[in-house]
Amino acid sequence: MSYDQKMFGLGSKRSIIREIFEYSKTRAAEIGSDKVFDFSLGNPSVPAPKEVNETIIELLGHEDPVLLHGYSSAQGDARVRKTIADSIVRRFGVDITPNHIYMTCGAAASLSISLKALVESEKQDEVIVFAPFFTEYRVFIENAGAKVVISKPEEKTFAIDVSDLESRINEHTKAVIVNSPNNPSGVVYTEETIKALCALLKKKSEEYGKPIYLIADEPYRELVYSGVDVPYLMNYYDNTLVCYSYSKSLSLPGERIGYIAVSPKMEDGENVYLAVCGAGRSLGYVCAPSLFQQVIARCIDAKVDIEIYRENRDLLYNNLTAYGYECVKPDGAFYLFVKSPTGDAFDFYEAAKKHEILVVPCDDFGVEGYVRIAYCVDKARVLGALPAFEKLAKEFK
Ligand code: PLP
Repeated sequence: MSYDQKMFGLGSKRSIIREIFEYSKTRAAEIGSDKVFDFSLGNPSVPAPKEVNETIIELLGHEDPVLLHGYSSAQGDARVRKTIADSIVRRFGVDITPNHIYMTCGAAASLSISLKALVESEKQDEVIVFAPFFTEYRVFIENAGAKVVISKPEEKTFAIDVSDLESRINEHTKAVIVNSPNNPSGVVYTEETIKALCALLKKKSEEYGKPIYLIADEPYRELVYSGVDVPYLMNYYDNTLVCYSYSKSLSLPGERIGYIAVSPKMEDGENVYLAVCGAGRSLGYVCAPSLFQQVIARCIDAKVDIEIYRENRDLLYNNLTAYGYECVKPDGAFYLFVKSPTGDAFDFYEAAKKHEILVVPCDDFGVEGYVRIAYCVDKARVLGALPAFEKLAKEFK
């Protein structure tokens, strides 16, 4: 065999989410799509804001097509980066400039580039993730040449357990990845937790005489309900990189657009930014899609209607808990993390499947015995699934 076995492994084994999604399509062809309650994929169901589509049309009609579809600077168009930097200054009070922004193809690329920029693979670096976590972190971290270390959450709340984190940090720790609002739990970490986390990272960085970086993975920042606040991590910790994406915040997952923001207060930050540019270059992630860079710059304050997600959240959370299921009330993102009544995630997944409900068993997310319900679906699907969830709860009793 003359190809990389690890890459072969990644390519030949589909993720469980994709597996379920494929099954859902086959099943829908057999019995009708209205009878299959697929909650597997985090694909936004709310359309992109009207102004996004209007801007695309406007750009196509009025901009020079050669420029519009041409290469931008490797790190992204300077004016687009300025618009994004100005928006961060305005919204979060961080004194950031276009020279701290690197445009990417979404959060997946932002994370891959950031990790590649930071990890020194010859040095046995470790990157800590907080369970439950987005399973692709494992792929990105290992691909950058580091080891994945999992920090266990506080029981029941799924908040970060700072004392567990402390026990995982050692001289090899290069970075921690914080994802809030969280996929798959929907939990938003409180300011108190963030302060405790940052104080610990500062103390440990001093103890080991080197920075431990904080990577803030924020594709769900804008999807929060009940007015909860999502602390902006650069305001709490200098050695922060924000990995942002418009996939969920503007419902543009297929367009592959996002950015990395390096904190202007980062130690040796100019060089870290250059390492980000180098990592983007080495991975082939240069010149993020030009058309969508321009769209983002013109729609910087656009928002999707998150009321639709909030309604689904309330319907599912209120009814499922009334039927006897255990779950944390999600403050953000569009996922509900539900405990299997038997304690085994696959039991729950298989039993739900018999009622045509498709949920994702989450053992690979670092917490055993839970399934994820992605409620970024039509309300009709939620309403259709509720009686089946109720029957299922009775079966388990
Ligand atoms: N990070 C988390 C926590 C996610 O849930 C996702 C996608 O679902 C990503 C990153 C990747 O997002 P993108 O589509 O912007 O690459």
